[in-house]
Amino acid sequence: MTVSAKVNKIFQDAKAEGRNFLLEHEAKSVCKEYGIPITELKIAKTAQEAAKFSEEIGYPTVLKIISPDVIHKFDVGGVVLDVNSKEDAINGFKQIVQSVKKHNSNAKIDGILVQEMAPCSTEVIVGAIKDAQFGPTLMFGLGGTFVEVMKDVSFRIAPIDEQEAKEMISEVKAYPILQGIRGQAPKDINAITKILLSTSKLVMDYPEIKELDLNPVMVYEKGAKTVDARIILE
Ligand code: ADP
Ligand code: MG
Repeated sequence: MTVSAKVNKIFQDAKAEGRNFLLEHEAKSVCKEYGIPITELKIAKTAQEAAKFSEEIGYPTVLKIISPDVIHKFDVGGVVLDVNSKEDAINGFKQIVQSVKKHNSNAKIDGILVQEMAPCSTEVIVGAIKDAQFGPTLMFGLGGTFVEVMKDVSFRIAPIDEQEAKEMISEVKAYPILQGIRGQAPKDINAITKILLSTSKLVMDYPEIKELDLNPVMVYEKGAKTVDARIILE
């Protein structure tokens, strides 16, 4: 299948289920088609499978709820980090199902996403929204309080070129953190640049994307990894 056939199918399957948003693994599949680095993942239907897949992916792993009724997974106890053994995986699976059901007894559970746990590093956010006037618009910022409290973000109307992507990154006030402060090694700014360019291409290719959110993306000295992805369709 070509990239566009694969992406179209993911969008169509979501719509066929009456959803205007993609589940995390679907959004990550779309990202992967565009060369955006993501965490390796598998879908477990049973606790035993969660253990088997954790073993295959390699510890530590992360378990997450897959449900069309859950948008913010962490808030309903739908994320278990640092799974380090078969027992952890089995308990984590059960704990997630129980917690999600407690928040919404009618929640449909499609399975549990097992994924590699990305080592902690500097977190950035890459986003896109469709502006009524300007069309697809890209956003960049550093994760956590920088975006949420300081509103320290940069915007560009898509499509962007490499120069504009680099400007978006260097414009935020928190930029020195990426450059490496207090003896820390600089983070891979080229990797972020590539993600911004790929995201730009993706939202230009698919005007039906209303909102896209890669939050967070872990950025390392070498490379980066998207840990959570959301895509909302029109
Ligand atoms: P939510 O739907 O609540 O946004 P996330 O998938 O973003 O759920 O998970 C919540 C938090 O857990 C993330 O912000 C990140 O800090 C951590 N996390 C999630 N997945 C991973 C992963 N694969 N590796 C490392 N940390 C992760
Ligand atoms: Mg998230």
